[in-house]
Amino acid sequence: MPACPCCSVAFPHRTAPHPAGPGRGRRGLMAAFAGLAAGAATGFPLARPARASSGLPPTTLTPDQALERLMQGNQRYLAQAPQPGPGNRDRRAILATGQAPFAAVLGCADSRAAPEVLFQAGLGDIFVARNAGNLADTGAIGSLEYAVSNLGVPLIMVLGHEHCGAAGAAVALAQQPLALPAHLRDMLLPMLPAALAALRAGGDTVEGTVRLNVALNVSRLLTESPVLAAAATAERLKIVGAYYDLDTQQVSAIQ
Ligand SMILES: [Zn+2]
Repeated sequence: MPACPCCSVAFPHRTAPHPAGPGRGRRGLMAAFAGLAAGAATGFPLARPARASSGLPPTTLTPDQALERLMQGNQRYLAQAPQPGPGNRDRRAILATGQAPFAAVLGCADSRAAPEVLFQAGLGDIFVARNAGNLADTGAIGSLEYAVSNLGVPLIMVLGHEHCGAAGAAVALAQQPLALPAHLRDMLLPMLPAALAALRAGGDTVEGTVRLNVALNVSRLLTESPVLAAAATAERLKIVGAYYDLDTQQVSAIQ
């Protein structure tokens, strides 16, 4: 199969769209990366993608209003209101032209702590980054920077939860050496400060680790991301910590 002359991918242009999208060969991609690099250098704002606002303007909610809407969703969840689901075909067609989530959540990958479900959010309502332990790693920070800079999200919630397996593993690792797969061990290392502090404090060390870990990752988002810090300083963004109790099914703020 012949290679594309501008991107070297074996892909015939005459019979199918370019893999990088219309008019986006290697030069287009390099220009896009250059734009991202320029945005990173200046901190804020990054260029808004053409499709992001074409069908849906960014939310007009303030950070506090976004938090209120999120928590109202958890109240509906507690009241066992029907889940909104993926919306009808018309709603999904609108979403095909862009997205305008009103909040972002950095949550745990745990199957019992899905933010869209806990907050009764529909398709396109909340921007979600998840990993085991709701950690502000490179992928999560970059994702949230995109949500704030390009989609105008006014609220980030770092959401921990009861009976978190990652927190339990971090507590075990803080107590004794464990033979763990390399990636799993490396993933848990950022949770060790929270686990050690929880062990010193006593009580329910897993819950203590979850709560401290949430607070640490709220701080980490602000200290490690100039983009998020600038938006918070300008009061365009609020970053909050929260805890999901599996027993009561309630989300509550972590101060
Ligand atoms: Zn978890």
